[in-house]
Amino acid sequence: MKEIILIKNGELALKGLNRNVFEHTLIKNLKKALESLGEINIRNAQSTIYIEPTSEEYDFDEALTRVSKVFGIAAFSRCGVVKKDINDILAAVPVYLKETLQSIKTFKVEAKRADKTFPLKSPELCAEVGGAILEAFPHLSVDVHHPDEIVTVEIRDFAAYIRAGQIKGAGGLPVGTAGKAAILISGGIDSPVAAYTMAKRGLKLDAIHFASPPYTSPRAEQKVKTLLSKVALYSGPINLAVVPFTEIQEEIGKKCPEEYFTLIMRRMMMRIAQKVAVHQKCGALITGESLGQVASQTLPAIGVTDSVTLMPVLRPLIGNDKEEIVAISRKIDTFETSCLPYEDCCTVFTPKHPKTRPTTSLCEQAEKNLDIETLIEKAIANIQYSCIV
Ligand code: ATP
Ligand code: MG
Repeated sequence: MKEIILIKNGELALKGLNRNVFEHTLIKNLKKALESLGEINIRNAQSTIYIEPTSEEYDFDEALTRVSKVFGIAAFSRCGVVKKDINDILAAVPVYLKETLQSIKTFKVEAKRADKTFPLKSPELCAEVGGAILEAFPHLSVDVHHPDEIVTVEIRDFAAYIRAGQIKGAGGLPVGTAGKAAILISGGIDSPVAAYTMAKRGLKLDAIHFASPPYTSPRAEQKVKTLLSKVALYSGPINLAVVPFTEIQEEIGKKCPEEYFTLIMRRMMMRIAQKVAVHQKCGALITGESLGQVASQTLPAIGVTDSVTLMPVLRPLIGNDKEEIVAISRKIDTFETSCLPYEDCCTVFTPKHPKTRPTTSLCEQAEKNLDIETLIEKAIANIQYSCIV
């Protein structure tokens, strides 16, 4: 029997006039995600997208895994396609859903009749299909309140679609519909989760990573690339800028008071990140900061860091506990990579006693011996760009 993937749009069904843009972006993202699996036809009608492979050997399992990571989808399912004829439908349901129906005890049938010209009304269709299932699987009984499985028959424009259950989609908004922002990515647990969280709200991602060789190794940089490739399964391709940060850190180490090292370093990161982001046409920066997690993430420290940027800085994890962040990192499969023990530039020059109540003016005073503009220009001139898929 011919099969398709049927997709229900998520939040975007609510978007009124913007709906076309959202649907168009979602379809583009789906095509991109499924591109390497073979040719498909995609059709869109009534907040539902139909994906129909043109070959018999289509890898549906892999396609469903990929669809489950595309933002903007409320639910999806794999369906059997049948002619809109009641006899064909009654013959097909017990065969197509055999495995599921054998493994459960109770079921319920739901019918959706988008094509109002179909001769049977929904309750009649449910009764007929229910009867055919009970006849083929006598161990089953109907439970309309708490069924083990819901069998759905949808009568639509071109065909009838049959399925058992449906899978919850990734939710959120299609990537690209909210513009683009740059994630400051370290090798830690938080920043990949922050990236995922903002991609879910429709942002396309660029990434910026600060590396301090030889204090940080090529393995640390590779770890960041691996993390981004896991995020890219959800967000689509990510352009990565690796910024050489060694000289800046050494200069800070030589010319600034130790208790300000981390804050000055973070202000330098923000200054550079903002320039890169403007150049890449990003509308915001994203970080993985969480209030109070470390000394550089207290409210005064965040204030001091933010005062060097005009661009909005999104901190989606600001109110999350570590436990909540870890749960998401496990879900998106970045946790184990994040836990690999390679050094980050943040850990290279850490002060023994970071300034506890920093202010912007104290920090400006502490960085006055740095030639900030020249250091930034040099770092930006030596950025290495790559695209992570
Ligand atoms: P993470 O788990 O993301 O590393 P963290 O708790 O270790 O977070 P910090 O090291 O203080 O926190 O970094 C806070 C944020 O600053 C990170 O979430 C990330 O957005 C950014 N950041 C830290 N180090 C780097 C780096 N080497 N390159 C780019 N961004 C960085
Ligand atoms: Mg870190």
